[in-house]
Amino acid sequence: MAPNETPRADIGATPPNRLMWSIAEWLDDAPLPTFEVLDTRSAQGRLDTRVKTVKVADLVLAHGHACDGLLRGVWAMRALADVAFGDTPIDRSDLLVVSKNSPCLGDVAAYLTGGRARFGTHRLDDTLGVGFQLQQLSTGRAWEVREEPGFFPATIIAWEAALLRGELSESDMRELLAVHEAAQWDWVRDVLLPSAPSDHYRARKLDYLKLPAPLHEARRTDTVNRLVPPPIGLPSPDDPTLENEPINQSTLELWQQRYDAGPS
Ligand SMILES: [Zn+2]
Repeated sequence: MAPNETPRADIGATPPNRLMWSIAEWLDDAPLPTFEVLDTRSAQGRLDTRVKTVKVADLVLAHGHACDGLLRGVWAMRALADVAFGDTPIDRSDLLVVSKNSPCLGDVAAYLTGGRARFGTHRLDDTLGVGFQLQQLSTGRAWEVREEPGFFPATIIAWEAALLRGELSESDMRELLAVHEAAQWDWVRDVLLPSAPSDHYRARKLDYLKLPAPLHEARRTDTVNRLVPPPIGLPSPDDPTLENEPINQSTLELWQQRYDAGPS
């Protein structure tokens, strides 16, 4: 290593508040929707009964930035989850989601539902606009949510497209990107945040959902055993959700021998 090179160990050092710059204080202080989610316990595990709470700040860290699209997606998904699941947590091991192929809405869809393009459980349909469709894999039940037409200002929509076309001069782009970002946040602050998710995001149950074709299909192995019941005779030290009955040593040894012998 050269004398002035930073040692690798220092590159990842975390100064105080390093994570929190990613979400503006006024946004983090706002009353934002949260999501309760369930997942499986491990790579071959059963469903974990412990609920996790996902906040907007978690989504921002996963997505890379806070933006109006992320927040519109959060409002839409909250309205959808309220209709589809009520107070029941979102089971991320049992859902297929359809979203527009937008960086922001697609990340909200994948993060909050567990749907993944590589397993065929995140499908894409650009006609959905700002909205999602959900299908519960175990039951086939389906729902959708759509943003009320006209809720998001037409001027901002027009600029979103114009700023991606590459037709503006560099000097215009430098200033207009800043004006555009401010317009998006003004709308979030003044219009979206004071509204309830169901005010402008309409969710309903679907009798039938015609799914777009998958980009890829593969077996998602970490959800295969989701419904296997917990052990009866072998409380696991790694599973605090189980009642810890006194361990029966002979039962433990029997199952350990069975495991040590290998599966075949
Ligand atoms: Zn975004």
